[in-house]
Amino acid sequence: MNINSVKVDAKTAEAIRAGQPVIPKEAVRNSSLFGAEGTLLRLLDPSGNYVATGYHGLQNKGAGWVLSRNEREAIDQAFFSRKIRGAIERRKPFFEDPDTTAFRLFNGEGDGIGGMTIDHYAGHWMVSWYSEGIYSMRQFVYASLKEMPEARSVYEKKRFDQKGQYMEQDDFVFGDQPDFPLIVKENGMNFAVDLNDGAMTGIFLDQRDVRKAIRDEYAAGRQVLNTFSYTGAFSVAAVLGGAAGTVSVDLAKRSLPKTIEQFAVNGIDYEAQDIVVMDVFDYFRYAGRKGLEFDLVVLDPPSFARSKKRTFSAAKDYAGLLEDVLAVTAKGGIVIASTNHAGFGMKKFRTFIDKAFRSSGRKYRILKEYRLPEDFRTPRNSPESDYLKVAVIRADG
Ligand code: SAH
Repeated sequence: MNINSVKVDAKTAEAIRAGQPVIPKEAVRNSSLFGAEGTLLRLLDPSGNYVATGYHGLQNKGAGWVLSRNEREAIDQAFFSRKIRGAIERRKPFFEDPDTTAFRLFNGEGDGIGGMTIDHYAGHWMVSWYSEGIYSMRQFVYASLKEMPEARSVYEKKRFDQKGQYMEQDDFVFGDQPDFPLIVKENGMNFAVDLNDGAMTGIFLDQRDVRKAIRDEYAAGRQVLNTFSYTGAFSVAAVLGGAAGTVSVDLAKRSLPKTIEQFAVNGIDYEAQDIVVMDVFDYFRYAGRKGLEFDLVVLDPPSFARSKKRTFSAAKDYAGLLEDVLAVTAKGGIVIASTNHAGFGMKKFRTFIDKAFRSSGRKYRILKEYRLPEDFRTPRNSPESDYLKVAVIRADG
C-alpha cells in the first residue's frame, strides 16, 4: 500500500499524541497533500518527527483516522485481524448473554479503526463503511472476518457519498444467509431486523439501555407518545413495560409496516396501539387542537432532517422542539429527550432543556442521564465519538 509522509500542524500533532484519533481536515494547508482516499499516512510534526500512522478517508468528522502511534507497527492483514479479535474479546459478556443477541461488535475509532463499525445480529454481521478510504481496505477486514467462527454471515452498508450511484445494492458479502426478518433479542425483547433492506435495518443499537429503562422504570400505566418513532422500538419497550397506550409518530411511510412488525414479533396486538405516519410538527398541532396529553414522551429526532415544509437541526432547533413536546406533556409527566448530534456535549444539551422549560414556564428535574452503552466503546480525548446524550426529565407544573 502507498504510504505518504505528511506534516501536520503543531496543534494537531500535540492532540494526536494525547490520544485524539481523528485527523482534522485543517491539519494540512492543502488537502491534496493527503493523496488519494485510502492512502496510508505517516504523520509528522512540523519538525519532521513521527507522530502516528493513519489513513486518508473523508468523512464529516475529518480527513482520516489514526491507526497506530507505533512507527514500527505495519498496517497489514495482521493489524486488522488483531484489532477485530481484540474487539470480540472485549465483548465476551455480550456473547454469553442469551437475552441480548444484538450489539455493536466493533466501534470504529473506539476499537482502533475509525471509519468502520460492525454490528452483531444473532451471529450475522453488518459492516458499515463511512468513507471511500476505509472501504478501499475492505479486503483486509473481510479476510479477517472469514477466519472468525463467530461470523455466520456478513453484510455491508456504504455510508459515504457514492457520487450519484444510489442504486439498490445487494448488501450481502459472504456466509450463510439467514431468512429475513431475523429476530434478535435485547434484554429479552424481540426485534425484527433486515440486513439487506436499504436504510431501515430495524433498530438503533445505541439506545439499548434507554429501551430497557422505559420498559422497567418509566412506562407502567402511562400514555406514551413516541416521536420520530422509526420502527417503533421505544413503543415496543413501553408496551412491554405496561404502558396504558402508545402513539408512534414518524414521517416515513415505511415506519407503519415496520412498527406493526416490531409489535407483532413481541406478541403485542398492534391494533390496540396507534401508529401515525405524519410530520411530528403537524402532529403537535393536531394534539394541541384535540387537547391530548401524554405522561411519557420520547423525543429522539435525527440530528438533521429536511421535509417538504422545513429543515430541522438539533443544534439550532432542539429547544423549540422540546417546547412543542411540553405543550402535550401532562403535569408530572416524563420526557425522555435524546440526541445523537456529535457537535455539542451534555452541558450544552442541558442548556437546551433549561431554555425549553423556562419558555414554557414549567419546573423540571432531570432524573437520570444516559450515554452510549458499553459496547459502543469510545476513545479518550475524542468527545465527538461520545455522541449520544439522553436525559430523563420529570416535567412538573
Ligand atoms: N427514535 C428512533 C430513531 C429515530 S431515526 C429509534 O430509536 O428507533 C429518525 C426518524 O425520524 C426517521 O425514522 C425519520 O423518518 C423520522 N423523521 C425525520 N423528520 C421527521 C419529521 N419531521 N416528522 C416525523 N418524523 C420524522
